[in-house]
Amino acid sequence: MLNPSFPSSAYFHVPFCQHRCGYCDFTLVAQKDHLIEAYLNAMAEQTAKLGEGIELKTLFLGGGTPTHLSIDQLSRLFETIFSHFRLAEEYEFSIEANPLNLSTEKIDFLKQSGVNRVSLGVQSFDSDILTFLERDHRSDQIFEIVKSLQSRISNTSLDLIFAVPGQSLDGWKQTLQTAVQLNVPHLSTYGLTIEKGTSFWSREKAGFFDLPQDELAGDMYEFALEFLEEAGLKHYEISNFARPGYECRHNEVYWTGYPYYGFGPGAASYLDGVRRQNHRSVITWLKKVQAGESPIADQETLAPEERAREAIIFGLRRRAGINRREFQERYGFDLHQLAETAIQTNVEAGLLEETDTHLKLTSAGCLLADSVVVDFL
Ligand code: SF4
Repeated sequence: MLNPSFPSSAYFHVPFCQHRCGYCDFTLVAQKDHLIEAYLNAMAEQTAKLGEGIELKTLFLGGGTPTHLSIDQLSRLFETIFSHFRLAEEYEFSIEANPLNLSTEKIDFLKQSGVNRVSLGVQSFDSDILTFLERDHRSDQIFEIVKSLQSRISNTSLDLIFAVPGQSLDGWKQTLQTAVQLNVPHLSTYGLTIEKGTSFWSREKAGFFDLPQDELAGDMYEFALEFLEEAGLKHYEISNFARPGYECRHNEVYWTGYPYYGFGPGAASYLDGVRRQNHRSVITWLKKVQAGESPIADQETLAPEERAREAIIFGLRRRAGINRREFQERYGFDLHQLAETAIQTNVEAGLLEETDTHLKLTSAGCLLADSVVVDFL
């Protein structure tokens, strides 16, 4: 059981990659491994004021690419983490990884260190798509890595991207079929978005490529919903599918509004009702920590109504939706009184549905979730 006033989850951001993929706007530096030493010292500095033995039900290392760090470097990071935290009996310890930096030795090390879930940035099994996305692994390397991972850490998730320029519906179907054949218990699927500041942004503006039409992207998403459900992977969140019992527990903490620690550049935390966000620039974050200053760029204490509205926005991401009675008990607002117009408009548009107990997105609503949740702000 999670406790709303007691954090039992922590996120550590590892902002290093071999190179920056053209579509990526995450907080990271590429080809700057000389900063890893300073980063590890800064992470030790940032956690120094925590006590000891804080119990975590979920621990998540994201990036960047956490597995870009060597075994020695990861070992130092784990030493920092476990000087303050310990894992609860039924814990989930996830790490994000890229196929190319997962040697058997590293997988064994992760397993020995307690990692019991790996989220692998596969993105596609199609060599042309991988080249377009500027990924550094090849299609044929993925199978070996997934096999090696599965034999050691069976709770493996694959990230896949759809709506890539040049990708056909058949190509996407093939990618999903291959993923299902690999028999992993969890898949995440994301439509390609082009963010300002990425190299894809300027290339798209210059007319080097066009994103697929919304209709094709919609068909790809709908196919994933049907095909993966049939394959036993339940659609439990807008972008996530899992076999029963393999839903990502750490992400559920975010979606259900429970508190969590967050460390590293760009990391967010939610503690004592206050949301904090660290500086997104790795260099600024490092300099702040080295100078003994706070690396927090923004912080916000949510008023009760803001908390309730935020709970709707996150809660609708889950296919189970929002339990109206639990919502009222936890946030002190009746869902309908708080958002009658937004609910009515979206139910009439076929984007939301109400059951006796829950308010949730329909399949069509999942595709347009961003515009649905705007109505609840
Ligand atoms: S490997 Fe992942 S985190 Fe790193 S640059 Fe590419 S997409 Fe971004």
